[in-house]
Amino acid sequence: MTSRSRRQASLVLAAVFITFMPIAAQNGAQKPSAGPWFGTPSPPAVSDPRQPVMKYDDAFHVLPAHFGHRPGRHDELLDGASLKADQKKIVDFAIQSLNAGDTVWGRRAATPAFMNTIEWAVNAMKTAGLKDAKVEPFAVPGTMWVPRSWKVQVIGDPAFGAGTESVTLQSAFPQPGGATIPDGTLTAPVIFVGHGTDADLAGRDVKGKIAVVHVRPEPSLFGSAEQGAAAKLAARDALGVINAVEGPGNAQYFDNRFACGKKPCFMVGGQDGWFLEQVIGKAANAGVLDKLKIGISLTSDEKGGLTSANGIAIIPGRSAKRIIINAHADAYFQGGDDNASGLALLVGLARYFAAQPKPEHTLMFVASGGHHGPGNGPASLAAMHPELKDGTVLILNLEHVAYADVVRGKVRATNNSGMIWEVSVTESAKAVGVTNESPFLFDLWSYASRCYGVATYQSAGTTVSGDLGGYRTLGVPMTQMIQSGTFYHSSGDVYEQVPAEGLERAARFHAFFIEQVDRAPEALIAAGRGTPYKPVNAACDVSARVTRGG
Ligand SMILES: [Zn+2]
Ligand SMILES: [Zn+2]
Repeated sequence: MTSRSRRQASLVLAAVFITFMPIAAQNGAQKPSAGPWFGTPSPPAVSDPRQPVMKYDDAFHVLPAHFGHRPGRHDELLDGASLKADQKKIVDFAIQSLNAGDTVWGRRAATPAFMNTIEWAVNAMKTAGLKDAKVEPFAVPGTMWVPRSWKVQVIGDPAFGAGTESVTLQSAFPQPGGATIPDGTLTAPVIFVGHGTDADLAGRDVKGKIAVVHVRPEPSLFGSAEQGAAAKLAARDALGVINAVEGPGNAQYFDNRFACGKKPCFMVGGQDGWFLEQVIGKAANAGVLDKLKIGISLTSDEKGGLTSANGIAIIPGRSAKRIIINAHADAYFQGGDDNASGLALLVGLARYFAAQPKPEHTLMFVASGGHHGPGNGPASLAAMHPELKDGTVLILNLEHVAYADVVRGKVRATNNSGMIWEVSVTESAKAVGVTNESPFLFDLWSYASRCYGVATYQSAGTTVSGDLGGYRTLGVPMTQMIQSGTFYHSSGDVYEQVPAEGLERAARFHAFFIEQVDRAPEALIAAGRGTPYKPVNAACDVSARVTRGG
């Protein structure tokens, strides 16, 4: 048997076992005093943030990318392998931050790991022959919250079964703003509040308790309905909040939409969350829920006087009018997709266009200070470059461009926690946004799926979430494709999460997109919704110069 067929055989056996298991066992019903914690298995260690949570390149491989090289175009610069090598370098800056002992590690704006990333991007563009490549520092207003130490423990009690000892939830990660707990540890009873909706909270008193919220990242924390629940619970006098994320493995998460001001609020990963909710339910069934307590400790600082930066470089065109191509360089954890993917594309496209004949427009490449804070890269760039307001034709953002889709799969988990998580052989679908609804730009975007195999939604709109927010004051048309998945803002967003093939699809499509925009009459780009325009429904002859009517 090959390892692959063994794996498939064991999957079949698991499926048969689950099918014939008694319903009570599937539902996790337990006899009383079945051992520590009512017989609930202890949660595992936190998922190693250096390693993927998921298995990639398992039985089947990612949808291939078949693109021929065009002679003399140097489009080998857009090959998946080349882009993955850059993505690796970008992720390595985050790993250096982890190795340096940063608590909120990654490429957090204004930190050394972030500054190294910006310098690398600028140097790569300078080496490729781009002009005026430089790091542009800017002062960051306000402060950056940094946790020093923390611990979240579910406190043991003999009432939960003989030998029950306190369990540390290792994936517990403090959310921004939490102040140092004065007496070291805060211990309080637990209250489970479902999804934290007003319906969930009807008749519940969270005062003086630590509230546990069940968070479903559907499809990610960005879209989660539980955003703001922690702040609401804090306002109702909960002493602290545990956001239990229903996600794969036992990952760590960091996202200010799950914070609650200066109170201690945490996110825990899927396996810690499952344990916590199990023991709450079992303690309630056994009539001892009042004995179930959580102990939280936290120390933190606010750091001020910080400097962040944007990295910029230019390819001069026949016209001084600019097309800005932007990618944010900041990230939490590895940020393999968010946004090492976009930054690798930015550098790859800069190299590619540096090797092409002079463009019509000036191409400005921006590795931005991002929008996760501290500071805002695009807003600072707009403020420092007033010439961009009237001198820019279009802003194209590269963000989260090739995330391998992680979804609820085909086999039920034995612990009744839903379907087992799976990785798709394709990237997840991305939302295309064109702020001015230019029919020409929508037409260009239609080439993404049709000609380059880039997965998008079948709909498109004006929404451009992410890094473009800071550019809004320029009043320039802006466009992008973006998505956020299960591992958004988590330690599961690793290097391996982004397939080389997906990066190549995205890079080749964006090269085509920029070429077409560069050659088109500016009136087509500025044209808003309802402007007469005849789409070119040609076959995917993507090397042809597109001529436009309308
Ligand atoms: Zn992000
Ligand atoms: Zn992002």
